[in-house]
Amino acid sequence: MSAEHVDLPIFIAGVEKRNPGQPEFVQAVTEVAEDIFGFIADKVKYHEAQILRRIAEPDRVISFRVCWEDDRGDIRVQRGWRVQNSNAIGPYKGGLRFHPSVTESVLKFLAFEQTFKNALTGLPMGGGKGGSNFNPKGKSANEVMRFCQSFMTELYRHIGADVDVPAGDIGVGGREIGYMFGQYKRITNQVTGVLTGKGLEWGGSLIRTEATGYGAVYFLQNMLKTKGDDVEGKTAVLSGSGNVAIHAAEKIVQLGGKVLTMSDSEGFIHDPDGIDQTRIDWIKALKNDRRGRISEYAAEFKGATFTGGGARPWGVPCDLALPCATQNELDGGDAKALLANGCIAVAEGANMPTNLDGVHLFKAARILFAPGKASNAGGVAVSGLEMSQNSARISWKEAELQQHLTDIMAGIHARCAEYGADGKGHIDYVKGANIAGFKKVADAMLAYGVV
Ligand code: NDP
Repeated sequence: MSAEHVDLPIFIAGVEKRNPGQPEFVQAVTEVAEDIFGFIADKVKYHEAQILRRIAEPDRVISFRVCWEDDRGDIRVQRGWRVQNSNAIGPYKGGLRFHPSVTESVLKFLAFEQTFKNALTGLPMGGGKGGSNFNPKGKSANEVMRFCQSFMTELYRHIGADVDVPAGDIGVGGREIGYMFGQYKRITNQVTGVLTGKGLEWGGSLIRTEATGYGAVYFLQNMLKTKGDDVEGKTAVLSGSGNVAIHAAEKIVQLGGKVLTMSDSEGFIHDPDGIDQTRIDWIKALKNDRRGRISEYAAEFKGATFTGGGARPWGVPCDLALPCATQNELDGGDAKALLANGCIAVAEGANMPTNLDGVHLFKAARILFAPGKASNAGGVAVSGLEMSQNSARISWKEAELQQHLTDIMAGIHARCAEYGADGKGHIDYVKGANIAGFKKVADAMLAYGVV
């Protein structure tokens, strides 16, 4: 009898034992296993091949030292990682995160989630993730460049257009991708699609920047449509003020919704008048050009307030909630507050922003709840399209890419519904996403035998 014949608590206890001190990774595996155990209960082929046990063990975890020199001439030492979780259905694919909170556990959870997310897109991409505990905040552009070059000087040997294709994530935007791509090109003398999220002049794809945020709102639209409803006229509470949050806010406004809040790690702003396109453009300039803090919004726009101390916006009454900052930023208490205030739909823009308590509460309340691996997959999907364009040495037009993105998000919604619908009008999107993602990867693994 295989290990998967044991019950769920024993399986999770094994994951905990093999991954000591890695709570985020254990949390991500637990959330997936809760659904997969039910699905595979009567499917012997998955038990015999130990599929879940194998997906929950990364193909490899590469850890390395990154030395760089700051502007004072002092030598600084950071740690870098690349977690290659699974290439069963395509080259490893997933972003790079630069943030002081980055640990092996965080990157393993992200690479594990990415494996299911990428499968859900329908594109041939495996799952990976990487990054460093480097903090870009407060660093000069030259310091960021030197760090990125040093990071790539080790990473380059582990990646490649048909091997592993990193992209951006928290703390890694167009500027950092540029520095890393430049260093890769210098070392290898190759201009290939080895990174995505590139600038348009050097191999990037139109709408990649917008894709995660826009895609999350398209997914939300698809969910609301199942209830005969829409975004128009709804109030939305968002966290974060980075790439994902800004573009999610933009799409909500375009569809006639009202965005009430945005945040960063210091706190949140609440604008009862609504954060309209002019104000979103102001936030874009604040974050991308001036690299400022969201608190400055309250000083700029009368009527808006800033709540500091790392406060989160979930107590503000709303119809829709989109957590777009980071993992575990919405807990059971926050979920209760949202439900008590009448929130009808939650679409995760970030990865695993809702903790397990929150997930269980949303599921029990049977509201529309989209896990990040489904709703934020638009970004990696357009990254997949960037890879295709690079391989074919062409650039698609914006309208074509927009159509691909809306089709892909509708496709993910349909895949979630296939495995998550209860036949009584409710869709459990967490269950649907976990099973649909698992099945595609699992079937590829079965075809390969024991490798
Ligand atoms: P950015 O770096 O552009 O923005 C991150 C935002 O989240 C900032 O406002 C940041 O505030 C806030 N934040 C980061 N860490 C914390 C923290 N520990 N506590 C509170 N707030 C925090 O990143 P992205 O917008 O690209 O990514 C946001 C989320 O979306 C992440 O979970 C990422 O994995 C996920 N995602 C991103 C994709 C993409 O295409 N970019 C694709 C799919 C998922 P501050 O400036 O104060 O740090």
